[in-house]
Amino acid sequence: MKRYSAFAVAREAARYHLGWERAWASPEPKKHYDVVIVGAGGHGLATAYYLGKNFGITNVAVIEKGWLGGGNTGRNTTIIRSNYLQDPSAAIYEKARSLYETMSQDLNYNVMFSPRGVMMLAQTQHEIRGYQRTAHANALQGVQTEWISPARVKELVPIIELKGPRYPVLGALWQARGGTARHDAVAWGYARACSAMGMHIIQQCEVTGVRQQDGRVTGVTTSKGEIACDKLGLVVAGHSGVLAEMAGFRLPVESVALQALVSEPIKPCMDVVVMANTVHGYMSQSDKGEMVIGGGADGYNNYTQRGSFHHIEETVRALIETFPMISRLKMLRQWGGIVDMTGDRSPILSKTPLEGCFINCGWGTGGFKAIPGSGWGMAELMAKGHSPLTEAFSLDRFREGRFIDESVAAGVAH
Ligand SMILES: Cc1cc2nc3c(=O)[nH]c(=O)nc-3n(C[C@H](O)[C@H](O)[C@H](O)COP(=O)(O)OP(=O)(O)OC[C@H]3O[C@@H](n4cnc5c(N)ncnc54)[C@H](O)[C@@H]3O)c2cc1C
Repeated sequence: MKRYSAFAVAREAARYHLGWERAWASPEPKKHYDVVIVGAGGHGLATAYYLGKNFGITNVAVIEKGWLGGGNTGRNTTIIRSNYLQDPSAAIYEKARSLYETMSQDLNYNVMFSPRGVMMLAQTQHEIRGYQRTAHANALQGVQTEWISPARVKELVPIIELKGPRYPVLGALWQARGGTARHDAVAWGYARACSAMGMHIIQQCEVTGVRQQDGRVTGVTTSKGEIACDKLGLVVAGHSGVLAEMAGFRLPVESVALQALVSEPIKPCMDVVVMANTVHGYMSQSDKGEMVIGGGADGYNNYTQRGSFHHIEETVRALIETFPMISRLKMLRQWGGIVDMTGDRSPILSKTPLEGCFINCGWGTGGFKAIPGSGWGMAELMAKGHSPLTEAFSLDRFREGRFIDESVAAGVAH
């Protein structure tokens, strides 16, 4: 694989960009792989990448029913932060955030990581208490966050209205090294690096069955035929319940559509990410100038990967209280993704009742930020059978009552 560099860009500019090679290969599946990962979203691709990079396991196929990054990875609002409450969460999200800092150099692919700062507004007394508690917990965990005053909020976000009619801004939890990254680029960067290691990324190939013998996984049935493997990783977000059923076990997850929308592009007006969890909305400005707005999840389980009018209305109506200037914006696009929610709002990275079969799911509304940390831990779990990053997130916790309650950090906020 040729390296991307300023020199390469100049060379290709001089020859009408005819010399670029394909970023990743599209091979036909082999009969057998050491590891098969189902789902070429960020988490599946990152798992494959760290299996190769950290453990030298490269006889790997990543199987995707659509196109890579076409699931939630290409549909999210790209917020990256690690200001969670519980220790196991802080560990995996902070590992991920720190890997984002050097991801472009590591993958030789510009993922446009922009550590512009993430702010979670406190608009009720309960939120003040909750976020001050998180700031203290983060200090003990080595995660840099701080509680800031309304005056500091206004300094950082001049377009904000502090004295909202229902919910005034009473302060905020601020993570200066949180931010955003280009979501497609994260998937594309990992895919290119996996392909360069000789791994197979097989798109337009749906897994329709999980094969097993004597309680051990032996392979998968797909729309392109049967593929044998020694280890199987199920990394399919909103479709985790479907794949688990194929493998013969049940998961404590619910699938719902989560929606987002963007406005027409406008001049730069807000250079941080702001979340207003009480009124249920959050906003950042993309490099193109669009205001990227996240809304809520549907109130009922479904697999509809699309937006709906009432969500636009509810989300924009709520945000206008805090950002009156957006009342004059035209909205351009809306969309939805199928997210997989657990009861404690924490993910599952775990062995399963089927030997050799592992699962990575339950990231719900907030898994984009976790992609590199999740891939790192999942690869270690699959290669060695255990990982300090994933230990607390095993399936057993639901049976044993060891919940990792992140409903404040992840209930609305993404
Ligand atoms: C609107 C919205 C906004 C969000 N905002 C944020 C945010 O700001 N910050 C944040 O951290 N997170 C956010 N998220 C959550 C985040 O997008 C997800 O947690 C994350 O992308 C999940 O990645 P994944 O790789 O697990 O899943 P996906 O990217 O969904 O990948 C799973 C893949 O599995 C494939 N698949 C499914 N079934 C099969 C099968 N049978 N055979 C083969 N392939 C199959 C799918 O086609 C899909 O490509 C948001 C999500 C949405 C929908």
